[in-house]
Amino acid sequence: MLNFEGRVAIVTGGAQGIGRATVMALAERGASIGLTNIRCAKLDSTIKELEDMGRKVLKFCVDVTDVEAVQEMVEQTVATWGKIDILVNNAGITKDNLVMRMKTDEWEAVLKTNLDGAFYCIRAVLPTMVRQRYGRIINIASVVAQAGNVGQANYIASKAGIIGLTKAVAAEVARRNITVNAIAPGFINTPMTEGLPPEVKEKMLSMIPMGRMGTDSEVAQGVLFLASPETSYITGHVLNINGGMYMA
Ligand code: NDP
Repeated sequence: MLNFEGRVAIVTGGAQGIGRATVMALAERGASIGLTNIRCAKLDSTIKELEDMGRKVLKFCVDVTDVEAVQEMVEQTVATWGKIDILVNNAGITKDNLVMRMKTDEWEAVLKTNLDGAFYCIRAVLPTMVRQRYGRIINIASVVAQAGNVGQANYIASKAGIIGLTKAVAAEVARRNITVNAIAPGFINTPMTEGLPPEVKEKMLSMIPMGRMGTDSEVAQGVLFLASPETSYITGHVLNINGGMYMA
């Protein structure tokens, strides 16, 4: 089993879904966790679970689009634990609409959270990772950034941006022993997807060779892999976790 004893991780959007599964998977293997979410109260049950497991945890009520709050979160983590080994940029939203009907604020909100938020977090942790000559950054993209989809131009642009950002930062910091990778999940059973109309779910399922949705913990396993010290020569990579939905 991968071991994260003594490692410090920040996970954004960690209150539910893929973020929460990632937090629990890292904590079960020994990591100390800085946990963020936009809606603060939603973090409480996860924090109690982590404390019951005997894990160290910092709670951050942080909107990733708030540059100063992101900076403070990173400073407080370093002040408390002296380092940051792992950043998982997971926080994400959708505001689906056809391009012709898409409102400017639907476009901007999705780009701001999914892409700008990841950039703010990466920029904030890099000085610490460069100083310590170690880091693992994992950005959660999406299969639709590779395959396209109707009604999600804002989301797809943000996730394609995440893949580009991943490769650009990976090249910049490769010599500092910092790896930067993305995960492109397919159709995953989380609160984000549970409200989709049945006919949309059916259509998505028909596109998945494995014939089922993925689980949040199946994505978390990919995060663990890329976050581990052992995967030290993988950088700028996009890991598909999609049941065969898109094979690149
Ligand atoms: P969920 O909607 O279930 O969880 C997203 C989490 O992010 C929530 O806890 C949410 O908080 C938090 N969040 C949203 N905006 C912000 C913000 N500005 N600052 C801090 N936290 C924020 O989504 P999933 O678990 O399904 O998705 C996680 C990631 O995986 C996302 O980036 C998503 O785009 C990506 N993804 C998901 C897929 C899927 O099929 N589920 C497929 C491909 C990619 P709150 O609830 O309080 O708003």
